[in-house]
Amino acid sequence: MTIRMKTLPFLLLLYVTFSSAVPVASRIDNEDKRIQLVENYLRNFYKLETDKESLFKSQNNNQLTEKLKEMQAFFGLKVTGKPDVDTLEVMKKPRCGVPDMGPYVLTDGNPKWERKNLTYRIVNYTPDMRPADVDKAIQNALKVWSNVSPLTFQRVYDGSADIVMSFETGDHGDNSPFDGPNGLLAHAFQPGSGIGGDVHFDDAEQWTIGSKGYNLFFVAAHELGHSLGLSHSTDPGALMYPTYSYIEPSEFHLPQDDINGIQAIYGQSDSPIKPTGPTTPVTCDPKLTFDAVATLRGELMFFKDRYFWRKHSQMTELELNFISLFWPNLPSGIQAAYENVEKDQVFLFKGNKYWVLSGYDLVYNRPKSIYDFGFPKNVKRINAAYSDENSGKTYFFVGNKYWRYNENRQSMDQGYPRKIILDFPGISKNIDAAFQHGRYVYFFSGARQYQFDPNSKRVVSVMRSNSWFNC
Ligand code: ZN
Ligand code: CA
Ligand code: ZN
Repeated sequence: MTIRMKTLPFLLLLYVTFSSAVPVASRIDNEDKRIQLVENYLRNFYKLETDKESLFKSQNNNQLTEKLKEMQAFFGLKVTGKPDVDTLEVMKKPRCGVPDMGPYVLTDGNPKWERKNLTYRIVNYTPDMRPADVDKAIQNALKVWSNVSPLTFQRVYDGSADIVMSFETGDHGDNSPFDGPNGLLAHAFQPGSGIGGDVHFDDAEQWTIGSKGYNLFFVAAHELGHSLGLSHSTDPGALMYPTYSYIEPSEFHLPQDDINGIQAIYGQSDSPIKPTGPTTPVTCDPKLTFDAVATLRGELMFFKDRYFWRKHSQMTELELNFISLFWPNLPSGIQAAYENVEKDQVFLFKGNKYWVLSGYDLVYNRPKSIYDFGFPKNVKRINAAYSDENSGKTYFFVGNKYWRYNENRQSMDQGYPRKIILDFPGISKNIDAAFQHGRYVYFFSGARQYQFDPNSKRVVSVMRSNSWFNC
């Protein structure tokens, strides 16, 4: 249920450097800001108790180190007890105001609603959205939970309700002030009378129905999880993960981790069909398979479902990210990918469509047609692709055949398709993914990986698919 993985925005990661060229005064300023950030974060979400004296300055900062370690473990970061760059990046992410440790952690005595038929009330509206869109977002967020549990929600328009939702700003009388734009987005109270179950949204945020600003549906669905008694999950794919991430709402399915969580409290849904949800891939699962693999500026990108892993080939650091977090216009389930090193472009394929990244940026928001490459119309999808940097030839694998494309002439070479087995002996199985690295081509088929030497035309080694992940 819980996997521990890094989720860092890589643009930040790439460009964050602590330069010694920064003037001393501003370096001290930054240092102060950093201490503030770390202390506030640990105080808000990890029950760090501080007096007015900064803990960094005091002799005894054991508590801070311990809390930092707790936080790093929660987010699957390297547990150093130090506020390193990766840790600071996570702390800067927009998130839910409910602590990761403390009264919300699930225990035997964790509060839950004793009735299944709950009431909710929307007290006020944000100026950012049409009231009808707010109503719809809240309704859909409630449906996320009623679909997988015996709970039902009925709206009331005045008086009291189990779950009272409102937009608030700054200090709004519950001892948990909001903080202006970004940072804290919302918070909610665990089941109970009075304020119990209530949800507050920070109206300093820009609330939307789409990908700009913060999507009200996602934040509401997350907060309602707390209203029903769930705490934060360490599964980075879970809705109950503390930081905000955007997925196209039409592509959203409640992850299995959250289904397990709500059903542990309220039991199965009354629906005859047992609902299931996507599970977050487990990096070191010996049965792990990939949809596509490509290089990108010296990094390896492994695609699976709505996730991708990034790894530098020479380093042990590994990140699991949502595809949509970096490329909101890319679909999940990429089927093939390759890098054209010379043009600094990555091509991503799904069905008969493809997308192009220039460096890390999506070139066109709309996909193009694979028939541009010269495929016949009976080719409906590409299984795998790789490009040979030296010859400028790209190899496309479709079923038991492959095509060779000339990147310089921008056309398919004559004499293709050919049978894969003729030119890639040992690679006859269904190919999921391929990439070239050094003098070898690596083919992925199910949970296996074949290291192929194109010069001697033979498989030199067979490994697990996730052999790159230092499992
Ligand atoms: Zn939360
Ligand atoms: Ca805020
Ligand atoms: Zn509040």
